[in-house]
Amino acid sequence: MTFKAGLEIHVQLNTQRKLFCNCSTAMKERTPIAIVTRKLHPVASELGEVDRAAQFEFLRDRIFHYQVFKSETCLVELDEEPPHPINQEALNVALQVALMFHCRIPNEIHVMRKTVIDGSNTTSFQRTMDVGMDGYFEYRNKKIPITYITLEEDAAASVEEKDKEVTYRLNRLGIPLVEIDTDILEGFTPEEIQDIAYTIGIIVKSTRKAKHGIGTIRQDVNISTEKGTRVELKGVQELDMLAKVIKLEVERQSLAEKVEKETRSVQPDGTSVYMRPLPGAARMYPETDVPPVQITKEELSTLKKTLPEPWNKKLERFKSKLKLSEQLAREILRSDYLDLFEEIVAKYKIESSIVANVFASTLKNLERKEKLNIAEISDEHFFEIFDLLSKQKIVKEAVPEILRHIPRNPQKKISDLVKELNLSLLSENEIEKMIKQTIQKGMPYEKAVGLVMSKVRERAQPEVVMKLVKKNLK
Ligand SMILES: [Zn+2]
Repeated sequence: MTFKAGLEIHVQLNTQRKLFCNCSTAMKERTPIAIVTRKLHPVASELGEVDRAAQFEFLRDRIFHYQVFKSETCLVELDEEPPHPINQEALNVALQVALMFHCRIPNEIHVMRKTVIDGSNTTSFQRTMDVGMDGYFEYRNKKIPITYITLEEDAAASVEEKDKEVTYRLNRLGIPLVEIDTDILEGFTPEEIQDIAYTIGIIVKSTRKAKHGIGTIRQDVNISTEKGTRVELKGVQELDMLAKVIKLEVERQSLAEKVEKETRSVQPDGTSVYMRPLPGAARMYPETDVPPVQITKEELSTLKKTLPEPWNKKLERFKSKLKLSEQLAREILRSDYLDLFEEIVAKYKIESSIVANVFASTLKNLERKEKLNIAEISDEHFFEIFDLLSKQKIVKEAVPEILRHIPRNPQKKISDLVKELNLSLLSENEIEKMIKQTIQKGMPYEKAVGLVMSKVRERAQPEVVMKLVKKNLK
């Protein structure tokens, strides 16, 4: 069955401050200092219409609890103080994103209010502004049309929902979010749509101002099949799931007698459940508390001069200069560790593919298979590890074992951890001593190498072991 898809990709920005106040965007605080309880009422928008979706939410008649955090919440998030002017850092990043997608940029940026009554905004609306329209980007020699780039405030994250009460964390509310919307895409496979979403993420990340980690990029996808009805799927948290989500939805629509216009919520396994009717029009009205911002030609030309290296040029450079394979180059481009990777290969004399493999594969394995909390591994830890590696104090085979132990010993210096774990590189003399204790003359070469390698595991380079075994077998 053929399908049409439209993507909405939301990326959290890693600016110092929130979009309309001076609170930190770090989201590091764990314990709330207060809980504020509210019952929200639906607001007829100033255009005079409460939309269907909003009414539906209102009918659920809920009580909302808001967790307040010390340096990550203020009176603005509580809707007790008007919003401050737009954070210039966030606006500049959003404009850079719009420029990278070849968008038309308005002369004046207007903040609008978009009705939301699920309680995730204390104001009952979300502040949003268009920063670019009618853009595109190149994907496999095709132009992918971009309809809008918007800068908006993130909503509060829900922590608990029971009966008619919902608890939200206010520290996420107000974090700047860039949203990139594609036009309707036709004639692509679900895998290609997923790849297009990845590419959009890579372009935004190249500003170096995107947040890292799970939940920092969220995507919604609209799907319509031959049955002609549009269904909105919300909250795909893992990009790798997108192709599966699309396939399941196309299948669901093909089996349904009648497809309803609705919004569905995506579950962790890729299936979706009914959420609410599709929101109607008239959801937007002007935000009168924030004055419009003029965008001058001078400002735009300054921003143009500071645009980052385009992702496809970076890909080519990784392949030609850093000798990475196409696959590894793409993986590192998608990785949250892209910036760190570039810093490390510039600083240390290590084969780029070794560094890329640690970030693209070793870490992923430790996180997925061993449930290691890789967020505990800091940039400094990585610098220390690659410093030791470049000075040949350790071998690359020792890296996973070191990484594995960092979350339990985050304060420890890597060099001390290496000693403790007995991972320091052995000298040739030490290896030879071990060889003499391990092998007998006349033993087959492969068997001898295997025996010695199992003893020196992560403390010697295989080439050195092979050379010394050969010498000692004679
Ligand atoms: Zn605040």
